[in-house]
Amino acid sequence: MAAVQMVNRMEPMVAQAVDETLVREKKVCSCERCRHDITALALNMLPPRYVVTPLGEVVTNVDLQSSQWKADIMMAVYRAIEIVRGRPRH
Ligand SMILES: [Zn+2]
Repeated sequence: MAAVQMVNRMEPMVAQAVDETLVREKKVCSCERCRHDITALALNMLPPRYVVTPLGEVVTNVDLQSSQWKADIMMAVYRAIEIVRGRPRH
């Protein structure tokens, strides 16, 4: 049996949504600490979407635009940004 791994597909999608939002939202700090805080907060608001894939397979080319979860992801990202903006930990 080939080695497999469990991946939360929500993770790369939220990370991408955070990156894209921080490029537009200049009022928000985009240092590594704040980016990770925003990503972690948003992920905690969203249901995990675990899948099992071959070990080492990277989830690439995330198509956030066509994702059925896009509205939920963007709402969580904006809520997380507001929280980190009010209480930055860097
Ligand atoms: Zn920061």
